[in-house]
Amino acid sequence: MKREVRLTRKERRKIKLQQIKEKKHRKVRFFEKSSFWIIVAVAVIFVGLIGWFLWDQQTISFAETLKYPQLREKYIEQIVKKVGKPDYITVIEYGEPKELEKKYNYHFKPDDFMTAIHKIPPLTEYGKKEVPISICVFPPSFDKKFLKTEGDFISSLLHEYRHAEIFQKGEIEGKSGATIMFSAFLTEGGRFNKNLLDDVLELDAVKMELLRPISKEYHISREDRYLLYYTQIWDHSEEMNPEFIKFLKIEFFENWMLKHPDLIKEKQEGKEIWYFKHPRTAREYYLPEEIIRRFSLRQGSKPLVFILIELKKGNF
Ligand SMILES: [Zn+2]
Repeated sequence: MKREVRLTRKERRKIKLQQIKEKKHRKVRFFEKSSFWIIVAVAVIFVGLIGWFLWDQQTISFAETLKYPQLREKYIEQIVKKVGKPDYITVIEYGEPKELEKKYNYHFKPDDFMTAIHKIPPLTEYGKKEVPISICVFPPSFDKKFLKTEGDFISSLLHEYRHAEIFQKGEIEGKSGATIMFSAFLTEGGRFNKNLLDDVLELDAVKMELLRPISKEYHISREDRYLLYYTQIWDHSEEMNPEFIKFLKIEFFENWMLKHPDLIKEKQEGKEIWYFKHPRTAREYYLPEEIIRRFSLRQGSKPLVFILIELKKGNF
């Protein structure tokens, strides 16, 4: 038989007070325990944030990107922050040519290390509306064969920026101030000669590169590249208007070319003849008479004052 224990009022109160005290104590213990873990979590998050911030702030050098391919994307971001980016360049991304070819449905040249690409609008639409450009950067940008320093990398990126700028305008400015519209690159049969336009776009962009201070090894190859694209104008002589081809040869002849070792100056039957002789193929690229006349006059009988006036006007 169960025996009922009767408690006095005082005892009941005592028990109640005891229970309240215990409950409070449990709560405090729980709070102590959980506050410990909260502090740990906050500390971990804090340390993580500091680490992430420091990592994010860390400057990656060009040399590091050669060793660690995983740093290249971040390096490109860092350079873009430094040099800026026009709005019409939608993305600058790093990847293998095969992956990016699939993504953009575009065929890259085997020696490409950086390329500006866009969907080609009809010729007449160039310069009328924005042409969104993507710049693709490939692993050979970081193999040191071509680009030796950060300055070289930036200069190449700016080379692509220049293409992007020209794609917006739909025209190229020659050194005489003449505007060469993209629509001028139609063959006599009415076909768009994209290869010739590409050569002229390269001349335009490499000309800008020549003005930038970059490493010496690169400097030599820029001049050779310029000369390569320049002499490629001759390859288009058959299908294009001969006057346009002659005009391009004159417009893109640069002063420094006068001193190039491949430029041969000869007198044939009393007439002065200038041509570039390819060092390997020995092919000869004859320069239009207008170039010879302009430069031999200045080198020869022109009075100094006249030359200075021309210098001031930028008539080259
Ligand atoms: Zn280019």
